[in-house]
Amino acid sequence: MPVMTLSHRGPDFVDLMDRVVAKLRQALAIPSTHEVLILQGGGMGQFAAVPMNLTKPGDEVAMLITGSWGNTAAKEAQLMGLTVQRAADEAASGYTTVPELGSYAVDPGAKYLYYVPNETIGGVEFRDQPTAPVPLVADASSQILSQPMDVSAHGLVFAGTQKNLGVAGAVVVIVDKALLGHARADCPSILDYTKMARASSLLNTPTTFAVYVLGLVLDWVQAAGGVEAMAQQSRVKAGLVYDLIDATSFYSNPVSFNARSTKNIPFTLADPSLDARFLEQSEQAGLAFLAGHRTVGGMRASIYNSMPLAGVEALVDFMVDFERRHG
Ligand SMILES: *Cc1c(COP(=O)(O)O)cnc(C)c1O
Repeated sequence: MPVMTLSHRGPDFVDLMDRVVAKLRQALAIPSTHEVLILQGGGMGQFAAVPMNLTKPGDEVAMLITGSWGNTAAKEAQLMGLTVQRAADEAASGYTTVPELGSYAVDPGAKYLYYVPNETIGGVEFRDQPTAPVPLVADASSQILSQPMDVSAHGLVFAGTQKNLGVAGAVVVIVDKALLGHARADCPSILDYTKMARASSLLNTPTTFAVYVLGLVLDWVQAAGGVEAMAQQSRVKAGLVYDLIDATSFYSNPVSFNARSTKNIPFTLADPSLDARFLEQSEQAGLAFLAGHRTVGGMRASIYNSMPLAGVEALVDFMVDFERRHG
């Protein structure tokens, strides 16, 4: 019986779920004050689930907007009847910066302060965790397990599983138990944290395979030295690419130094007419998926935990060679 065909209510799968949750607790030092849920609907499902569980229509929430995912979440919050206070919005820099700690004021009436620790498309990452007088909510979809995170300082952290946690299909939600019990009356049960917590995330059929792979990924991260080791490797890998970009005017990265992501590195060529050739030749060299997000163009190297150092070295070698031939 493979995991995909196990009954999710049977003891084998229930035990697997328990072990995966325990591994997550250990990897991220999640305190007992927080519930760990493994749900569906991906990261974007949480753009609606968070408002439905923590607010009522007409409430206000505060957000630090540093890029595309934050903007999408803000729109969804408005769809849920919320007033969004953009406590900071880095639009003026073209979303190449993060707000300085203490440079923004959060309305005290806001139900929470929402931020995206790593903006995946723009390649913009917070170095320091924001602080707020209201619960902090983080969309850590592209950062989780690659950077130590003080979970206890957050009211809620969520992350889709397809970037640093394995395969697509599930979303991890870590929520302060003090925030449970306030879902809207019309909140669908599969999005209701309280109901899901009571059912140990097994109210309906979970994405069994994604949960299984998540367990394998957590074993792999632990064997490699845990989140600290992942963070160290991320810095080394990203450093190779940024060092090359900074050493030449042939390539550039638009993000301000103190906000550069160690996971997603967007870059452009001084001569954009070479973009297509860069992408074609890099593909031929075995370097896939380097096109920038369709909304921004250019190039983007996404170097999540699963990308080995050798992959990044191959990219850098290719970039050096491409410049030699076309620079
Ligand atoms: C990928 C991503 C999402 C979207 O996740 P889906 O699972 O596709 O809904 C949301 N937020 C961030 C920061 C992401 O990187």
